[in-house]
Parts: sequence; structure tokens; C-alpha cells
Amino acid sequence: MQRNRRAVDAGLLLLLAQVFQVGLENIPPVTLGTLGLNVFLFLKPLKPLPNVCISVDQGYYQKDWQRLLLAPIHHVDDWHLYFNMVSLLWKGIKLERKLGSLFFGYIIAVFSVLIGIVYMVLEFALAGLLNDPSYRVNCAVGFSGVLFALKVLSNHHHPGRISNIMGIRVSSKYACWLELVAIHLCTAGTSFAGHLAGILVGLMYTLGPLKMLMKATAGGFSYFNGSARQRDYYSGFSRHSSYPYNTRGDYDMYTGGLTEDEQFEMALRNSLHDRGKTKEEKAATRGLKKIEQDAKLQEALGDRPIVSCRQPPNLKMILTNNHRTYHTNTNPGTFPCNKPRCQLCPHIHSADTIIGPNQVSYKIKNTYSCASRNIIYAIMCRKCPSAMYIGQTSQTLRQRISAHKTDIRQDHKEKTVSCHFSQKGHCLSNLITCILLQKPFKTALERESSELLSMLKFDTLRRGLNKDSSYLTHYKDSFPNYHL
Ligand SMILES: [Zn+2]
Ligand SMILES: [Zn+2]
Repeated sequence: MQRNRRAVDAGLLLLLAQVFQVGLENIPPVTLGTLGLNVFLFLKPLKPLPNVCISVDQGYYQKDWQRLLLAPIHHVDDWHLYFNMVSLLWKGIKLERKLGSLFFGYIIAVFSVLIGIVYMVLEFALAGLLNDPSYRVNCAVGFSGVLFALKVLSNHHHPGRISNIMGIRVSSKYACWLELVAIHLCTAGTSFAGHLAGILVGLMYTLGPLKMLMKATAGGFSYFNGSARQRDYYSGFSRHSSYPYNTRGDYDMYTGGLTEDEQFEMALRNSLHDRGKTKEEKAATRGLKKIEQDAKLQEALGDRPIVSCRQPPNLKMILTNNHRTYHTNTNPGTFPCNKPRCQLCPHIHSADTIIGPNQVSYKIKNTYSCASRNIIYAIMCRKCPSAMYIGQTSQTLRQRISAHKTDIRQDHKEKTVSCHFSQKGHCLSNLITCILLQKPFKTALERESSELLSMLKFDTLRRGLNKDSSYLTHYKDSFPNYHL
């Protein structure tokens, strides 16, 4: 089968861009080598695809065993290659640094062959169980089986993380299973048995005897040590000379106690955003230098100062903010907060001068929004100029007006506001509101006395909507000497 060759293999270009963005010097040798081999064989396949793919028929019956080695490193098209190699890049960088290059290479080689064998066993079983001989000729290529196995390994080394698969948050321990099902359901032409074989081989390593067997077989080599000694092995690895942490002392100073994995993730993330030093990194370096030069600072901070960079604002932070209201207006008056779900915004009356039913006008001095609290507010009617109600609340205007609206909907006749807006020819949208003033009122009494002053100023007790007598008794309690 001739590969469907386009003028430019977009997937291949994208892969190269990704590799150079991470930086060749940041990719450990075996990962880089495996990646190079896959790309090379994609450009110059050893044999046509039908002669390298693995199936029960070709592998077991025809005894074409070299397919076990060839199938994982050949790919169907450039996108197949791209997705597998980007995944290899991320998993390889982590795992190779954790396990050591030689052992990682050993793992990849053993996994590749074992996955081919497990794949054939699975397909053989499926053919027998479902009585469908087509499973025996299902031919698979690609690195994704090995990637599934590496994923199981990586999750074994970093347990307790939460993965996000198609919007479903799941503990990374089970992520590979969900991914297996998701990929099978979403992408036609992927090999379910091939991926399952990958997971099974990964589990054979993490839970089964494979790890022990591999270590025993490799026992003669002093390089193949357990992960406990990996760091020593790695820092002595001279070929990777651009590794930035040369001595233990430097190491802690630059890392601020982060583990290698954390640093590497951070470095990688940084390299994806910006290839040069960021402003924050430069500031941090300057800060560290200052600490070094100042004996007092050094004494105070110890020999492991933690330098942390604050993330520069991303799009989400620019578009949403919990702490500030949305308007940047500084004009006096009340303005809609413009939050997407705010029910009050349509009722906001934004004038800076309010005229009461007695024609007294009042100039608002500050800027308020739906979320302002500890306020004296006015409710007005779009239809009737004389209908004004003055109220006070320690809550936000939004909460308070929402309570008024509930009263109106429930038709509370004893409340004048509710009575006015539920009368004939009126509806909720006639209600407009604004804040008259806001103060750091400490008690309800302080708020109520300020509210009463506003009522008296606009004469809403006689001409407006504050004439509800039951409401007035409330003031009689607060102001026993005030004759209303
Ligand atoms: Zn609002
Ligand atoms: Zn009205």
C-alpha cells in the first residue's frame, strides 16, 4: 500500500514544530531516538504497510515474527504519527528521566514485542469467542499500544492525579481505561485490542511480575538499577551536558525544593509559552542575586529561598474577575454590573440626579452597581413619576430587589411596592431602581435613620410608596421620640 502522500505532510510539520519548541536539548536521548526512528520509518518505510502490520494470521500462522518489531514503529499517515509522537514526547520526557535512559529504552523494546504478542492472544481469543475469523486477519500498526503501556507506568509513578478526558474528571489510575473506551467510540479505525494489549502489558509491569523479570534479566548491567538510584545515574550522564543542574548546591537554589518532575513540567510549560527568559524569570534571577549578595537576607531566608512567579493574566482572568464589578465607569450614579446572569441589570436606573415625588432633586455622589451593599436605595416606576419607594439594606441591591420582585410575583397586597407593580397596566419591567447612598453603616438603626432622612427629603411617606402604615410602626420602635 502506497502511503497517501500529500505535497506537505501537515502532521509531520506540526510534529517538528512541537519538537523544536520543546527544544532538542530538553528531550532525553532514548525518547529523541525513538521519535527519530518513527519519523525516519514514516518517510522511508522498510516495507509497505501490509508487510509490517501484525495480526494472528501473519504473526502466528505465517511465523513472520519480525513484524513484532516492525509494527509498532510504522504509521498509517502523518496524523497517526503526529498524535503518537507528541504523546511519546510528553511521556518519554517524564519517564526516561525517572527511570534512566537505558532502562527506558529496554522498557520500550520489551513492551513493543510483548504488546504484539498480547495483541495476537486477544485477537485469537476474540475470534474464538465471537466465532468470527476476521479477528485473525485484523492487522495493526502504530506506537499507541506502547503509549498506553507507558501511560499505565506514568500513572503508577504519579498516582492521585486527576485527568480530564472529554470533560470527565477521573483519577489518573483509571484514566487509561476511560481513554480506551473514549478513543474506541470516537475514532474509527483504531485498534481496540492493540490499545487494550498496551494497558495489559503496562499492568503486567506495574502490578505483575514483568518488572521483576526485566530487572532480573538486566541484572548483569550496573546501569539497570531501581528508580531509587536514578537521580545519581542521571546526573552522572555526561552526554546530556546541557542539563542545567550540575551540582547539588545549585540544584536546590534554582529549584526552590521542587521535584525534578515539577521543575521539568514547569520548564516545559515555559518553553511552550516563551523560548527566551520571561520578565518573571528575569525578575526572579535578579531577586536571587540580591539574596546571595545580602548576608542578612540570606540568614533570614535560609539556603533554600522559594522563588515563585505569578502567572501573567490569561484570557480567562482578563474576561472574568470575582473581585471587581465589570463596569469601569467612574461617573456618579448606579450602573448595571453586566454579569451574564444578573437579573437586576435591566432594572437599573443610571441617572446621576434623582427627582422625588415632591420635585426635590438629589445628586448622587458616587458610582454604584448591582453588587453594592450597605445602601439606601430608591425604587421608581417607569409609568408613574410620583411612585417612589425608599429602602435600606445591608445586603446587595441585587439581593434586596430580588426580594421585592418575589413579593410582587406573589402579589403581597399589604406591601405598597408589591401593590403598585401588580396593579392593572403594570408589570415587573416597570420597576426601576438606583442607589442613593452607601455608607459603612454599623447598625440597622444607623441605616434606618439615614433611610428615614431620605424618605423625608422626598416626602415618600405622604406622596410616594412608603406610606404603608404597618411599615411605619417599624420606625416607631427605632425612633420612639419621632412623631410620624
Ligand atoms: Zn447587574
Ligand atoms: Zn406605576
